[in-house]
Amino acid sequence: MLKVQGLCSGYGRIRVLEDVSIEVAEGEIVTLIGANGAGKTTLLMTLCGKPAASAGSVTFQGKELLGMPTWKIIRQGIAHSPEGRHIFPRMSVLENLQMGAQAADPAHFKQDYERMLDLFPRLRERLKQRAGTLSGGEQQMLAIGRALMGRPKLLLLDEPSLGLAPMIVRQIFDIIREINQKDGMTVPLVEQNAFHALKLAHRGYVMVQGRITMAGTGADLLADPSVRAAYLEGGA
Ligand code: ATP
Repeated sequence: MLKVQGLCSGYGRIRVLEDVSIEVAEGEIVTLIGANGAGKTTLLMTLCGKPAASAGSVTFQGKELLGMPTWKIIRQGIAHSPEGRHIFPRMSVLENLQMGAQAADPAHFKQDYERMLDLFPRLRERLKQRAGTLSGGEQQMLAIGRALMGRPKLLLLDEPSLGLAPMIVRQIFDIIREINQKDGMTVPLVEQNAFHALKLAHRGYVMVQGRITMAGTGADLLADPSVRAAYLEGGA
């Protein structure tokens, strides 16, 4: 579904991604793990057109995305739930969900909205509340819900567990599993919580200093001694 080949990208003169190649098949959860500053967020952002890639190719369902403006990339069926959530803090929960639905056909709004509130019952209780006053976990749920309201085929998920309590992290990971299994959502997932991410993912990649250094099934990477030493047992 998504094929990234030889992708290079960065910020001005700072090169971050070097010759990155990954693939994500329809219906897969594919996680990207790596240390702080490895370039994981930059990869997801480059897929959405900013920063612009300096080399390589990104095809989504056979169509080249590089060179497309971000709004057009989103219209292909890609949604991005960014690191740090970036919900609209002064808008209500409902308004945030409405903003997410801008990319979708208005005819689906009611059905998608009900599905979202079934998925995140906490949001149903807080529809009129300003989003900026939600807890971290609720804000993360809203960020995912807002992205899904655009009816994407592919959901780019950046650090959904960041800064959340372990119980909430489990809930968020359960929801990712549910949207994958029940709705067939394809999810490239960037995570520092390598243990949870690799357990959840069908496949994974390891990124070190802007390069992909390993690839394998979630189970294989979980069992790999170098992955364990670097990302699961205290970290290198
Ligand atoms: P983290 O898990 O800490 O978010 P990451 O793997 O997602 O790390 P990135 O956020 O992609 O890494 O950052 C990769 C590199 O790019 C880092 O060295 C970072 O300082 C640099 N970088 C990120 N954003 C910018 C920017 N807007 N301008 C210049 N350099 C940037």
